[in-house]
Amino acid sequence: MASAPPFQRQADPLITLSPFADPHGVDPALQDFLHRASSLLCGWLGSSSKGTPLPGLSAMPAIEPERVGLSPDRLLADLQMVMEGAYNPSHPGALAHLDPPPLVAGLAAELICAGLNNNLLAEELSPSLSRLERGLCGWLAGQIGMPAGAGGVAASGGTLSNLMALVVARQRAGLATNGDGVVLCSDDAHLSLLKALTVMGLPPQALIRLPVDFEGSMEPMALEETLQALAHQGRPVIAVVATAGTTVRGAVDPLGPIADLCQRFGHWLHVDGAIGAVFALADHPLSALEGLDRADSITVNPQKLLGIPKTSSLLLLADPSVLKASFATGLPYMEPSWGFGHGGEEGLQGTRPAEILKLWLGLRHLGQAGIESLLGGALARRRRLQELLSVDERLVLRSGSLHLLAFAPAGLDAPASDAWSRRMRERLLAEGLLLSRPLYQGRHHLKAVLGNPHTRSQHLEHLAALVAEQHP
Ligand SMILES: *Cc1c(COP(=O)(O)O)cnc(C)c1O
Repeated sequence: MASAPPFQRQADPLITLSPFADPHGVDPALQDFLHRASSLLCGWLGSSSKGTPLPGLSAMPAIEPERVGLSPDRLLADLQMVMEGAYNPSHPGALAHLDPPPLVAGLAAELICAGLNNNLLAEELSPSLSRLERGLCGWLAGQIGMPAGAGGVAASGGTLSNLMALVVARQRAGLATNGDGVVLCSDDAHLSLLKALTVMGLPPQALIRLPVDFEGSMEPMALEETLQALAHQGRPVIAVVATAGTTVRGAVDPLGPIADLCQRFGHWLHVDGAIGAVFALADHPLSALEGLDRADSITVNPQKLLGIPKTSSLLLLADPSVLKASFATGLPYMEPSWGFGHGGEEGLQGTRPAEILKLWLGLRHLGQAGIESLLGGALARRRRLQELLSVDERLVLRSGSLHLLAFAPAGLDAPASDAWSRRMRERLLAEGLLLSRPLYQGRHHLKAVLGNPHTRSQHLEHLAALVAEQHP
């Protein structure tokens, strides 16, 4: 069969860019375009420390396509405009969120991923990448200490990983068509669990939130009492969700005692480790993570601390075959799997990109030493800031075992903490330091996430000095 002629436009190939890469030979116009795009990006990354993490409103390029497609020059100029208005996670003062600078290996992997345009829906649409995902999930589960045969699937974000975990848990508990099931978690658990219940057709009351102790962790006694009460009432339990790294202060629920209770009552244990599970990759995993290996399922978000470009989330399971039991529908328009299973049968998403590529390449580039240094650096910065702020006796500090720290002056009521945190956030931003302002236990706090490897001690000292001089 004769193939169609390559898409051609007249004129100088260095000025005119075909919309698709020439399959018959390397296209110099494409090479030039990608070089220039990567130069733009390197320029943007390389000037990150100028300005502030959060730019003001910027001019935007036109939205709609013009009649005749734009030249590479204009495309790049448009891109530049969008970049100028972008949030800048590489700024050393970007401390507000769980959004670190991107790993450079991740940038290359994203480019290659886009170029390959494979699809994790089915093996024949992603032969090598499906295997890579399976292999890496298995390896990560092994690093965490999950049993042999453990593995999982990538998902576009922790919200989806948590949702899939609860759907699987419900299926496993035989409650797929039962509207009475409940999920237990702590008061500080992530709101994505509420979203999951909505999608699962369960009322918000199906999420039973247990109080946290002074350290922000679930109390096993309260969990035990609640599980007993539910058992007496004959109320079915879908899962217990323990959080390894709460969103405001990075607290870790007591995983071992919670795993004991789940074992005793026969309940599924899901650990939402979107923030904290990556610390299991450290040379000496945090003692707070003891018991993580006993979870039935774990959400891991390498996008949140390791710098894997968004999105990068995984759901790991002790027995990954439960994914198929929950999500397989058959893929009648696909060749049968040649042994490992189709991605689209192992999760909620159908078509999805090979997000695993950037995680794999990023970890390979970091090496164990690089991973250790990222994790250790984040903890060291949190400890340093804690040390600096704890000198000030007027502040209440809220932290956990990870790299997050929230604080607020003692004794303020809700309106006063709101006013203090607003004023303080503005003052800090004027100095290039961006913190977030979460509402926690009825009061606004300022929160620093110390996952940015560009943040130096002097930034933290500056931050502490500004906080000290701005008391209510
Ligand atoms: C961020 C976060 C999530 C949700 O992850 P997304 O990738 O934002 O969807 C879930 N749980 C915890 C504890 C989180 O911090």
